[in-house]
Amino acid sequence: MATPQKKPFHLAIIGGGITGVTLAIALQRRNIQCTIYEQSAGFGEIGAGVGLHPNGVRAMEICDPRLVDGFNKIATRNKWPSKDRVWFDFLDGTSTVPAPELKPLFTVDGRGPNEGGGVHRARFLEEMVKLLPGDIAHFNKRLDTIVDDTQGPTGKMLMRFYDGSTAEADAVLGCDGIKSRTREVAVGKDSPQARCKYSHKYAYRGLIPMEDAIEALGAEKAENAQLWMGPDRHVLTFLVNRGATMNLVAFVSDPNEWPNRGSLVQPATKEQALEDFKGFGPNVLNLIDKIKGDFDKWGLFDLADNPVSSFCKGRICLVGDAAHASTPHHGAGAGFCLEDCATLASILDDDSVQSASDLEVAFQSFDANRRERDQWLPQSSRRAANIYEWRSSELGRDYDVIRQDIIDRQAYVWNVDLDKMIAEAREDLAERMTRSREPPTLVPSVPSNVQAVSSPAPRILAHLPPNWHLIYADPSPRSAQIPFPHTTLRSIIIGSPLRSARLLPFTPVTAFHKTKMRWSQLVAAVAALSSSAQAVDPLPFPTSCTGVTATRYQNRVDSGWKMTKLLGGLRQPRTVIWDPLGNMLVLQATRGVSVHTFGADGCVNSSTQIVTNVGLNHGLSLTPDGKTLYASSQTTAWAWDYDAATRKVSNQKVVIRGIGQGIHSTRTMVVVPQAPNIVLVAVGSNNNWDYQSGSPATGRACIKAFDMSKVPAGGYSYNTDGYQMGYGLRNEVGITIDPAGHAWGVENSGDDFRRTVNGQSTDIHIDNPGEELNYLGDPTKPNNNWYGYPTCFTVWGANLIRDAQFKTGDQFVVTPNATFNDASCVGKSVPPRLTLPAHTAPITNAFDKDGANMYVTLHGSWDRQPASGYSVIEIPFTKTAEGLYEPVAKADSQTGFKTIWGAANPGSCQSMGLQQSNCFRLAGLGWDPAGTRLMVTSDNSAEGEIFMLAKK
Ligand SMILES: Cc1cc2nc3c(=O)[nH]c(=O)nc-3n(C[C@H](O)[C@H](O)[C@H](O)COP(=O)(O)OP(=O)(O)OC[C@H]3O[C@@H](n4cnc5c(N)ncnc54)[C@H](O)[C@@H]3O)c2cc1C
Repeated sequence: MATPQKKPFHLAIIGGGITGVTLAIALQRRNIQCTIYEQSAGFGEIGAGVGLHPNGVRAMEICDPRLVDGFNKIATRNKWPSKDRVWFDFLDGTSTVPAPELKPLFTVDGRGPNEGGGVHRARFLEEMVKLLPGDIAHFNKRLDTIVDDTQGPTGKMLMRFYDGSTAEADAVLGCDGIKSRTREVAVGKDSPQARCKYSHKYAYRGLIPMEDAIEALGAEKAENAQLWMGPDRHVLTFLVNRGATMNLVAFVSDPNEWPNRGSLVQPATKEQALEDFKGFGPNVLNLIDKIKGDFDKWGLFDLADNPVSSFCKGRICLVGDAAHASTPHHGAGAGFCLEDCATLASILDDDSVQSASDLEVAFQSFDANRRERDQWLPQSSRRAANIYEWRSSELGRDYDVIRQDIIDRQAYVWNVDLDKMIAEAREDLAERMTRSREPPTLVPSVPSNVQAVSSPAPRILAHLPPNWHLIYADPSPRSAQIPFPHTTLRSIIIGSPLRSARLLPFTPVTAFHKTKMRWSQLVAAVAALSSSAQAVDPLPFPTSCTGVTATRYQNRVDSGWKMTKLLGGLRQPRTVIWDPLGNMLVLQATRGVSVHTFGADGCVNSSTQIVTNVGLNHGLSLTPDGKTLYASSQTTAWAWDYDAATRKVSNQKVVIRGIGQGIHSTRTMVVVPQAPNIVLVAVGSNNNWDYQSGSPATGRACIKAFDMSKVPAGGYSYNTDGYQMGYGLRNEVGITIDPAGHAWGVENSGDDFRRTVNGQSTDIHIDNPGEELNYLGDPTKPNNNWYGYPTCFTVWGANLIRDAQFKTGDQFVVTPNATFNDASCVGKSVPPRLTLPAHTAPITNAFDKDGANMYVTLHGSWDRQPASGYSVIEIPFTKTAEGLYEPVAKADSQTGFKTIWGAANPGSCQSMGLQQSNCFRLAGLGWDPAGTRLMVTSDNSAEGEIFMLAKK
């Protein structure tokens, strides 16, 4: 953090709340110039409390250690020494037992004593503002719009304010909170991401003098933090003002719409609050009665339903609530804002950020390193509130399970290693900066004078051009310890730079190895041997691999299978494929593509990164001849020439561009082996409910096919080029091709489902809708069928939908009405060929060699308790008289698959984010060329792992 000179750029911070002020302090400390534009007449916060925890405190320390001093000056913690570790005692708010005698239902401890506390917001802001130079803020500046003129005459970002004034800066940091205008400008004002949605909860907030609180509850309950649980409502209390005041927040679930979108705060009366808490016991009612001063009720809005696709757009970066507004049920919103500030300030301070033109890349790095954690919060927070209010259909009032659930979620909030995250962000920044400054690294392609064949010598001789060598490789090369040990390659023709035409009838490869003679040529020649793929020997099955740590998470292998961990320490391995020489290629999300070779023991003996591209996040496929590699980011698909012998790529080009963005960011790519010019590309919906995607023209919730022999200059446009391979497919992350050349997809279906009939709404989400195995047909011909999304979904748990007689595999609509009901799905929507359990999240599928079984990774649920998935399943298939393939089980079966490997106790798996979980998150899967080893990846961000499975 030593920036001796000012960086040659100036940043505008829109908004002077906790985020804007902290960020300004952190930037000032790093000698980075900035100006705050605040709409109010001065810095100001409301007179309520805010709790900050170890993560927030560490973030403050990174921003500027003086912030922690200011915080500690006013932070208030539980008063009783016996409670100094307690986050909240959870109490039954409906109880009529007087508070002093009331026993907690359970207690959740914080991380440790003195690692956080509650502060009065206004006092805290006052302490922070003391650290700012007086001239840093401009008040009464309400941002109206931003114009990007960085390529124009000024070279700046231009801001206009409602008072008619303007200002310019090199970049704009939107810290303007929940109703962020900067967000509107960045995502477009008509985008659903522009505005927060009502979470159907509101809160009364108030302060109570401590002597009144003690009178109502007794000293123990008043002087230490409490969470009063109850049906559809909950109340929490903690100390502020050095214990002189109790901060109370009383939350109410509200089926109605918020009355005034223009204002999140409505005046309220104590009577209304008391009315709302009818049914609660006298402890809570007495406390509400004691609130002094203004009485407001706050509508709780968030971005949970419409998370922004990116925290940045060009030179605009969203920070704090502007980026990820959340309901407050983890008491963590401000803490996450502070984490943002620490990360962004550290990124901008990095030596690699040298000029204004580097800011865009710096913001992308901020987005890549913060978004997953930040967007977890609004999701988890909503869920936490429902748990506190006994609204969770799975957890109900089982306090052991509730307590564990809360502990796990809070641990995710508090136990973050922020220093490590920031170090990783800087690493990521370095990679991005390198990439942005250099053209993509390309390696030399196969020399033009190299060819290879695997046919017998006499034929080779007949075709031998002048000045070429014929070399036989050792037919049992494993003993020779060379890097392509499992090929049965017998004969290669290598062009001779020695310009001699010498025939070598048999030259063991060892000889070449020993002398290093023509080694590169020999290896290069192997690349061309795609036709030898079928001749690849099985890999040995190692029982362990030297240097590879034990499997990170407990797991259970079916008795007919065995498993060994092959690799660890990878970055989110998502997809695994093979080249014809038996090298394994892995797409590591946010890093690129690596290639791995195998030693004689079946363990990986070398790993090389061949593509560096932090945008790559899932899609990876190779033509059967091993010569063309495809990979995708959220918006773009690329192709490279690939050389299996040298394991290098060259000639990178964009083949598909302009893919839309949304919460589902993976773009699965699959080359059709029987028609290798055809590549299928899947795009998911941009939200849980993406209503527009019912039209295939949106290019969402669909699969399209592209002929790669005819790619136009600059690449195909995803939305307007190619042909349809099915639409109404919510998120078909897994696609594979059966031995007959037909495509099969596995689909992730929706979350948080309720069935509403005649105004009566029932939570059906725990077992509905089912995930889907869809038959997509012959990919060489268009498939214009609709598969139901976002209207027709598939039943897994028929028992939960009590208003109609369903069986597994039937399709239903969530709110049937006169114009479209369940029956309307029949004939219009193609149902799945087999249904899989709800929320298991199938994300990769692959057939074994003869098409007898399909294998599917189930990434695992987040929207279900007990959790499900976290496994690999085997779905038996059969070949029909027509030579086609289909699952053995009938479409209404719930038993058409079996688990061959999975988490030891999947029900207890918790996933706080896509890649964050206390279990492995199985992602990619693929059979080796010999068809005897099944490789499976886990993309858990704690450790990316690859496992080898084989039948015993
Ligand atoms: C009831 C409740 C309880 C909470 N409790 C906790 C808690 O205990 N712990 C915790 O960590 N978090 C808590 N939070 C969350 C926390 O309050 C927020 O995450 C945090 O305050 C957000 O800070 P911010 O600076 O990003 O946004 P804000 O505090 O909203 O600040 C935004 C600033 O931008 C200004 N602004 C807005 N629009 C414009 C414009 N167009 N031009 C110029 N200026 C503009 C505003 O005037 C304001 O000053 C709670 C939230 C609520 C609602």
